[in-house]
Amino acid sequence: MSKFLYLGNGAKPESASVVKVHRYVTPVAKDASCLAVLETFFSNHELYALPVTDAEGMPVALVERQSFIEFFGQPFTREVHGKKTILEFLSNELIMGSTPIIVDVSTSTDDVAQIIIDKGMQHMVSGFIVTEDGRYIGVANGNNLLDEITRRKQAELYYLAHYDQLTGVPNRMLFSDRLTQACREAARKNTLVGLMFVDLDRFKQVNDSLGHSVGDLLLCAVVDRLKDSVRDCDTVARLGGDEFAILLDELKDVVDAEIAARRVIASLQHPFTIMGHELFITASLGIAVYPKDDSDIGRLLTKADTAMYEAKRNGRNAYRTYTAGLSIYSLDHLSLETDLRSAVENDEFVLFYQPQVNLATGQVVGVEALVRWQHPQRGLLSPAQFIGLAEESGLIVPIGNWVLRKACQQVRAWIDAGLPPLRMAVNVSSLQFQQVNFCSTVKAIIDESGVDPDCIELELTESIVMHHGTLVLETLRELKQIGVMLAIDDFGTGFSSLNYLRRFPIDCLKIDQSFIRGIEKMPVNEAIVRAIIALAQSLSLEIIAEGIETAAELAVLKTCHCQQAQGYHYLRPLPADGFVDWLFDYRSMSV
Ligand code: C2E
Ligand code: MG
Ligand code: MG
Repeated sequence: MSKFLYLGNGAKPESASVVKVHRYVTPVAKDASCLAVLETFFSNHELYALPVTDAEGMPVALVERQSFIEFFGQPFTREVHGKKTILEFLSNELIMGSTPIIVDVSTSTDDVAQIIIDKGMQHMVSGFIVTEDGRYIGVANGNNLLDEITRRKQAELYYLAHYDQLTGVPNRMLFSDRLTQACREAARKNTLVGLMFVDLDRFKQVNDSLGHSVGDLLLCAVVDRLKDSVRDCDTVARLGGDEFAILLDELKDVVDAEIAARRVIASLQHPFTIMGHELFITASLGIAVYPKDDSDIGRLLTKADTAMYEAKRNGRNAYRTYTAGLSIYSLDHLSLETDLRSAVENDEFVLFYQPQVNLATGQVVGVEALVRWQHPQRGLLSPAQFIGLAEESGLIVPIGNWVLRKACQQVRAWIDAGLPPLRMAVNVSSLQFQQVNFCSTVKAIIDESGVDPDCIELELTESIVMHHGTLVLETLRELKQIGVMLAIDDFGTGFSSLNYLRRFPIDCLKIDQSFIRGIEKMPVNEAIVRAIIALAQSLSLEIIAEGIETAAELAVLKTCHCQQAQGYHYLRPLPADGFVDWLFDYRSMSV
């Protein structure tokens, strides 16, 4: 009995229905190739259904033309946009050449989904039953399977997105959710919520002198002590590095937060024994209380942070509660906003460029434009330091338009200088996307520069695509009509319904860098990346992995058949001149 790849629903239909519909079934030569079968099926409109047979050739299911076309509808519509048809897609060597996952016919959809996730899913030609040597046996509708995989992958992504991988406690995202919830409850019940930031003192020294594995174990041990010093209803979270936060729920009195802070400090007094080393560590704590110090969550966080820095400045191993005198940070914030307004007028922004490399050919195929702010006093600022502020103040709209215009002009300049065409990726923020005239602005800017719209790619975030329902679909369609390419940035962090991928005219997914970091040591991340790549392939989307820093990460991505990569491993973002110099060096090296 030959083994075969089975992707589909294992349920056998009633034998009567098999007989009843048998006359509609395509007569297919037993050893026809997958591609030949499809070609016959699609070119002959009289053929109503494709049979699914088991290894002995017995019919086990039937796929009707309509459901088949619905499933593959997206790749077909892509033809209109100059994308691959499903037939081209299937003849792709990567897909045909990859190793099938071999299971028994009786395996349930559930089991197949798990096997595919565990194996890292080489491909998801959902619905095809192909023998080990690539011969077609039958077709099954893979919708169930796709949904099941999506559901499981979402559960994994949810965990990754909400919990700290090292210590297992909630991360920043889940912490903010819980904080918001707790404050809402407190407002209703008239109670208080304590917010405490905990930053370890001189943790870096431990890492530098004893190594990361000791540092990691110490962080886990610290988390245990933090958890032991608060109540079960309180949340201990890791915000990153050696920073933690504690949510003290339903406090009766402000003093209770101080009592908790003293307990936390006391809990760290005894030494830790880690891999034979006796270690002493202290922490600096900052406290802010809702609603006493602020009723706005964002400002409350800033205030706890400010108090924590004050504790550090005053000699560490101490806690500070927020007081009005400590408002240095919010002042800073205000002056930066004033500066940002004039920055737009004074043209203080610069674009840096980072290459995107095709992994199969090694060629640079695209470039991402990343904005920087040349601040007259503070020097070069990164987006992390001002994009949030630009979004809050609405200034992101003129800044975003400037970025797009500048990026288009750069494409034009490179073409004029004789460089081979590169696709230019430009980030779009949610507020820009929501502007009623967004599409016409994009079109006007591109027209003005005279570049081909299809060499401009707009990077949208998952949240843009998720949050605004049907209006989004219309805007995306309008953008496709202009001819620009559309990518989803930081893919995998939004972990919301992936169904939109099938409905929306997206061209490319950019896998978020958090899945790439240390992928060679993180099987779960590798499995997710493989699943995302397979998902992208089955929907005929391009795929780029972001944030590749090391050769080891790159090697894993190559085995996952990732198409394109971007990251410090190739080049840190540079201004146009530096980028072009690098490009020439890179080309001459790869010849
Ligand atoms: P993004 O669009 O996901 O851009 C990738 C970020 O990762 C860039 O940071 C890039 O410098 C950084 N990066 C690239 N390779 C590596 C790597 O190997 N390792 C590490 N650790 N980082 C790497 P950057 O330039 O600081 O930009 C940060 C974010 O700011 C961008 O994330 C994007 O969301 C936003 N941004 C940048 N430019 C613009 C813009 O013009 N408009 C808008 N709305 N947002 C922008
Ligand atoms: Mg981006
Ligand atoms: Mg990104």
